[in-house]
Amino acid sequence: MTAPDNKARAARSRGRIRTAERDILALGIAAAAIIMFVGTGGAVVPKVIGAISGYGIGPDIALVNALLLNVALIIFGWRRYDELRTEVAERRRAEEHARMLAETDPLTGTLNRRSFGFAIDELVAATDKGASSTAIMMIDLDNFKQINDRRGHGIGDLILVECAERLARALPADALLSRIGGDEFACAMNFDRTGPESIDRVAASLIDAIREPFMVQDLRIDITASIGITRADVLKPAKNDKLDAQHMLDMADVAMYHAKRNGRNSYFWFEDFMADEMRFRERIEAGLRQGLENGEFVPYYERQIDVSTGEVTGFEMLARWQSPEFGLLLPDMFIPIAEEMGLISDISEQLIASALDEARHWAPHLTLAVNISPVQLRDQWFSQRLLKLLVSANFPPGRLEIEITESCMHEDIVQVRALIASLRNQGVRVCLDDFGTGYSSLSQLHTLPFDRIKIDRSFVSGIDHCQDSAAIVESIAMLGKGLGLPITAEGIENDAVLDQLRSFGEIRGQGYLYGKPRSASETRAWLADLGLLASEEKSVGGIIAPPVVDDTKGEKPDPMAARG
Ligand code: C2E
Ligand code: CA
Ligand code: CA
Repeated sequence: MTAPDNKARAARSRGRIRTAERDILALGIAAAAIIMFVGTGGAVVPKVIGAISGYGIGPDIALVNALLLNVALIIFGWRRYDELRTEVAERRRAEEHARMLAETDPLTGTLNRRSFGFAIDELVAATDKGASSTAIMMIDLDNFKQINDRRGHGIGDLILVECAERLARALPADALLSRIGGDEFACAMNFDRTGPESIDRVAASLIDAIREPFMVQDLRIDITASIGITRADVLKPAKNDKLDAQHMLDMADVAMYHAKRNGRNSYFWFEDFMADEMRFRERIEAGLRQGLENGEFVPYYERQIDVSTGEVTGFEMLARWQSPEFGLLLPDMFIPIAEEMGLISDISEQLIASALDEARHWAPHLTLAVNISPVQLRDQWFSQRLLKLLVSANFPPGRLEIEITESCMHEDIVQVRALIASLRNQGVRVCLDDFGTGYSSLSQLHTLPFDRIKIDRSFVSGIDHCQDSAAIVESIAMLGKGLGLPITAEGIENDAVLDQLRSFGEIRGQGYLYGKPRSASETRAWLADLGLLASEEKSVGGIIAPPVVDDTKGEKPDPMAARG
């Protein structure tokens, strides 16, 4: 219904209501007429009967007129009364409609945020404090934003509507369901305090309901949900704060974020430590913006070694945050938050620019590998931006390797392929990182033009004592050979692992055995000791030659020379 429609309807309704008020008077008149009718009827009717039977002179004409007037008044009054009833019913319907519009989410028909708050208060008030309690769940769709961005809002809306229907079906009949905002739903229900497992079961079935693939316009779309749960009887309201719906929703939200950070597609009950976690996160968020302005992100470098010769082949740049508040932070602590905040591209480009600058001091055969977030992969201008960085650092693209994690294969594969092709056209090499942990199929490996595969640490570190890991690493090494793709093994921590890797053929390796990631200055000092800085190399006809390895004794150089 359009806005003018609504206005006209409201004006008509107001007019009718005024008429209805006037007609209460009409009903009064009709009632009085009935009383008078009974009175005059009592006097007139016997006289009429007497006259008809020939015993009397008939009623007084004035009385007859009064009786007829009464009849007319009764008919008039009754009709107005009937109209009045219709008007009142219509008014109720109009009010009901207005209330529904004010209380429900127009897209999904579930309660909206405002009415949900009131409904929770009522639900809490209805609990029998000793025996029952109210549980509140925050339900957030995990990858909805990407679907909206990639497939358009029309499809996004259809999915939200179906999500609401699936959630409603999976909930107990007396539970409340609300769409709190964008892709966030919430529900509330009372439960027996002695059986909170019933709430666990509901949460699990909501997760299952969303996990079922969505078929929209012949597209199969997979979505998961993260859920946070609170229960009214265990929550401690903040000081001087009453335990209200908003407080419960906030705590369920905190638990939901915890679920997001712990792998998504799962549910968690709120616990106090999560609130601390949340506060910590808020400090990180504030610090990240500041850190970007102040250039607090610094590249660290981890050596990459040819495991058969022991020679250094290059470095992987790993991000660190030198935070004035927290000290030196590892990427797992801040990269996911930077991704969510939309800061990752800026941070990454700052880091890459400074790494390119630093790597120019290294011997020119040494490569630089950098990690790229899936968020950056979605940016169609990424390869142009990278080219700009390469040009302004005057760094040869052939020395740069971009590491794309295997989880990106979950992304829009057409776009990933276009990006890889565009990077390779510029001469940059592209490596598939964390191989074995993600979703890439053999056919994707075959069709995506990678230059290298990197076997995930979780497999490599176990090959000396776990037969399964050894079998996986060996078959990845064979796969690489078959596809003509060189292999890097990360996470080499001891000689036993290294020895076994060597038996799998030509492999590049990295790990704590060779050295932990180091700052730019430590890395430069280490390279200087090995004579591997650019200026220290002999220049032959303008070409900077790699260091000369003395293998006249027929011995391979000591691999441990590369250890630090
Ligand atoms: P990754 O790319 O798999 O990097 C390897 C991680 O394993 C590094 O952790 C490294 O310090 C650690 N590592 C290396 N050798 C060993 C070993 O022998 N044993 C053990 N236990 N660990 C080892 P780090 O630096 O904490 O990086 C973690 C992840 O953060 C990286 O995993 C990468 O995915 C991501 N990351 C790092 N820098 C960046 C960046 O600039 N941008 C993006 N988007 N992600 C980054
Ligand atoms: Ca990596
Ligand atoms: Ca890895």
